[in-house]
Amino acid sequence: RSICPATASRLIVDLDALSGNYASLSRKLAPAACGAVVKANAYGLGAVPVVEALQAAGCRLFFTAHLAEALDLMSVVDPTCEIVILNGLDPDCEPVCAEHGFVPALNSMAQIERWRALAIAQGRRLPAALQVDSGMSRLGLTLDDAQALSATAIGDNIDLRLILTHLACADDPCREENRMQRARFEEINRLFPGIPASIANSGAAFLTPDFHLDIARCGIALYGVAPTLAQPGELRSVVRLDARVIQIRDIEVGTGIGYGFDHVARCPMRIATVGIGYADGISRRFAQSGAAWYQKHRLPLVGRISMDSLAIDISGLPDGLLREGGFVELIGPNQPLEAMADAVGTIPYEILTGLGRRHERLYV
Ligand code: PLP
Repeated sequence: RSICPATASRLIVDLDALSGNYASLSRKLAPAACGAVVKANAYGLGAVPVVEALQAAGCRLFFTAHLAEALDLMSVVDPTCEIVILNGLDPDCEPVCAEHGFVPALNSMAQIERWRALAIAQGRRLPAALQVDSGMSRLGLTLDDAQALSATAIGDNIDLRLILTHLACADDPCREENRMQRARFEEINRLFPGIPASIANSGAAFLTPDFHLDIARCGIALYGVAPTLAQPGELRSVVRLDARVIQIRDIEVGTGIGYGFDHVARCPMRIATVGIGYADGISRRFAQSGAAWYQKHRLPLVGRISMDSLAIDISGLPDGLLREGGFVELIGPNQPLEAMADAVGTIPYEILTGLGRRHERLYV
């Protein structure tokens, strides 16, 4: 499927690998269920095709951050599936959320009161998830509020489908705080018997099984980035990013290349201009040590990265091997997402969600 074919870069999403990762995570987590976090347009990969593929693979629970993201999925999500809105709702959005049967995370007593009031006004029970802040200080009820709430009749008007919390350090298996958060969360869970509980993101899915509880919320692992404790080969890469060579030129000694002439040729060079830039999610910091790849050849970046292009040194390539119109790899088997993230001092999440809209997205 192609959304915008008239661009110089293509983001190739391997839906088979995505489904394989879902199957692999589901096996690891069983008997807990594996839900899929598809917020931020499924981490930049395209929420609609990602959800379609995951649904076909058996996934029944999806997590977005915002109501608007849930609405975008309305036409593709099967009525047997649930969409949980993790960031909760603004008061203005509540009726729309109720109308579509989405499951909002209730993150404060005020949100609970408003949801309950809407349910009473509509004369029916409304579904909800309860998010508890077990220590990350980001979103969710305080432990005291959660305890107080358990003593009241939340169930009368609210159909509580899930109780969840999020770990601050799940990507580091050695952090004692993981167990501390789990212990606090379990104390709260006990007060809501029979309600499915969820603590694990991708990182925690690879911690000991006592982190799995009833439902995991996996994002980055589905998209092929392996948490610390994953075995080699346990997850497959899902994403490849290629960009087209839009011009090739030979440069003489002493010629400056790109903005600011940061690079001046010390010997004759052959330079290829590639049609992808920082507007497409290639950080300007990648110019320091980054490269593109053609077959097994590493082609170092030269000079600053522009908004829509970057320059690579192809002097080492055999004559005629790479021509204008050819594609080079920015993310793929030679240069995994994790390597690009390391090179620019960030995390794979930021690279993926920052890739921008201009790439032709191909689903294979
Ligand atoms: N649960 C919550 C509340 C999140 O905010 C996120 C992602 O940021 C996830 C689950 C998924 O995390 P991951 O992509 O590490 O699996």
